[in-house]
Amino acid sequence: MAMNTQGRPTAPTTPETSAPETFTGNRALQIEEALLFEIGRNDVTGVDFDDPAPFTERLGKHARKSSIDLPGLSEPEAMRHYVRLSQKNYSIDSGLYPLGSCTMKHNPRINEKMARLPGLGDIHPLQPLSTVQGAVELMAELGRWLLEMTGMTSVALSPKAGAHGELCGMMAIKAAVRAKGENRNIVLVPESAHGTNPATAAAIGFKVVTVPARPDGTVDPEAVKALLSPEVAAIMLTNPNTCGLFERDVVEIAAAVHAAGAFFYCDGANFNAIVGKAKVGELGVDAMHINLHKTFSTPHGGGGPGAGPVVFSERLSAFAPLPFIRVEADGPVLVENESELQAGETPFGRMVAFHGQMGMFVRALSYMLSHGADGLQQASEDAVLNANYVRAGLRDLMSQPSGDRTCMHEVLFDDTFLDGTGVTTLDFAKAMIDEGYHPMTMYFPLVVHGAMLIEPTESESKASLDLFVATLRDLVMKAKSGDVERFHQAPLYAPRRRLDETRAARSPKLKWEKPEPWSEAAE
Ligand SMILES: *Cc1c(COP(=O)(O)O)cnc(C)c1O
Repeated sequence: MAMNTQGRPTAPTTPETSAPETFTGNRALQIEEALLFEIGRNDVTGVDFDDPAPFTERLGKHARKSSIDLPGLSEPEAMRHYVRLSQKNYSIDSGLYPLGSCTMKHNPRINEKMARLPGLGDIHPLQPLSTVQGAVELMAELGRWLLEMTGMTSVALSPKAGAHGELCGMMAIKAAVRAKGENRNIVLVPESAHGTNPATAAAIGFKVVTVPARPDGTVDPEAVKALLSPEVAAIMLTNPNTCGLFERDVVEIAAAVHAAGAFFYCDGANFNAIVGKAKVGELGVDAMHINLHKTFSTPHGGGGPGAGPVVFSERLSAFAPLPFIRVEADGPVLVENESELQAGETPFGRMVAFHGQMGMFVRALSYMLSHGADGLQQASEDAVLNANYVRAGLRDLMSQPSGDRTCMHEVLFDDTFLDGTGVTTLDFAKAMIDEGYHPMTMYFPLVVHGAMLIEPTESESKASLDLFVATLRDLVMKAKSGDVERFHQAPLYAPRRRLDETRAARSPKLKWEKPEPWSEAAE
């Protein structure tokens, strides 16, 4: 039997053939989990309600006659269901999460402790402002840190994710263009951009024009200049870019964009690489979102909540949306309504009902304060160091599309090293699952064939990176030695093995249908 370096068996014996089937369908602690609707019964409930007092029904013929079929479970049943589901997730708390562009870093527990302080955790957005001055001050302080780190003039805290921040920034740009009486309707987006960039521009009616990339994935200022015209409203540029490289010509690009009367939106999702190292305001950026859930360690994955504050330059500050915080002589003031605006404040509108993701604000500020300016800078340096450590450990076996060149916080490989092996990027990623790793980002950025984007973040120790590198080296050797079947079948150890992803994407089952015998039984 094959053993790993710790003497544990590693041979991919398929559990189906080598282990007996169990009565329950469970495999040791891998427990089959049915849906709540399948394990619940609607004749029971975990809560004892008193019978309602007599009341006069006012819904008439609209009153529902049939049961609403909510599953009834006792408290321990509900608890177990959700705990088991949570155990099926891969998370940053269970292992290295090398998903490039996502900055899956450790969420320090001090942040969680702060977010749970009753004075912060239990407040409500509809409480009178006089009772939540501390929260307003916290928001002002978070904004102050963000402005200090970016060298920008004002901040909108309300956007709830990176993509939402892009929308906020681009709506401010649109308002600024219209305020000048112009009709510019083109937005330039480099080929390597995250899909949310062109989607955001298109969603608010701009026409997207693609800027071609250089062979190394960076943007050529000449390519931008060739596309600039009086029709161009803005460029959306990611820096460091999605290939993990700093756009060295960013100042020249910004100057050309401004000279053409357009604005510079920077996708700041990769801010973790440059915190404390470069102020985007000095690079000529007019608006940039910051993913608190990436750079500032607030938890993410599974759909949220995130937080995507947007910082603005002098040129756009007047257009920042409501609500915003105005810092006055005797403290910060939350400006919520148009009636409270002062001269020169011309917000483009409002993006959300309240003020943004308060819980994430607390976590992000706690992260900033516990690190301090020097600690934040070091975190960035360590993130870049870790990515380059992984790069150095793999560069003789895996191929780098931009040549053997220092990267920022993430390292990009392409699939050239798999040429002729019969193994694809997808197979390689699936084999990582068997090794207990979440795969890296695959097939993004689109400019690179079979892209594998690895972002270890600063959270990982040298020992953790060494094991990761050794694992990938082992997989590369196996792929090159012709052990193709293992890759095509991977993951062998995941409970559902290899899924039919094409079918899942083309005909997703979005709704649970009652199985036949069930509906008959209900009648
Ligand atoms: C994550 C990311 C986004 C979008 O951020 P969300 O918070 O997921 O909406 C945009 N651009 C880049 C480059 C990203 O990595």
